[in-house]
Amino acid sequence: MHMDTYREQANLLRLMGHPMRLQILDLLRSDDECVCHLSAVLDKPQPYVSQQLAVLRNAGLIVDRKAGTHVYYGLANGRTGQQVRSVLRGPAGDTEQGHCPGHQQIAGCCCPRCSAESCARDA
Ligand SMILES: [Zn+2]
Repeated sequence: MHMDTYREQANLLRLMGHPMRLQILDLLRSDDECVCHLSAVLDKPQPYVSQQLAVLRNAGLIVDRKAGTHVYYGLANGRTGQQVRSVLRGPAGDTEQGHCPGHQQIAGCCCPRCSAESCARDA
């Protein structure tokens, strides 16, 4: 019983023991984001970001949600999601900072949220 819990946590930490994946998870802690946005924030090519997202999704750490032609990624709900949240301590998910909590607008990003005139949550 306990051994299973430790195995599960070890697996989780192994997956999170990667700076890029950790940053992705930290970004998703505040809000769902699409691949093009994550690619702009991380300054990495989309195929690379997609690959990391696939690893995290296959492991059940994140889930994808289709909205029109875009796919948004967010942290999984339930126990796995809670464990991920409890481990994350990065600055990207700190919603106390920045004028637009949840979504960091990136100049030149082509995602629908960044090309929008204003942040919906500011209203
Ligand atoms: Zn964007």
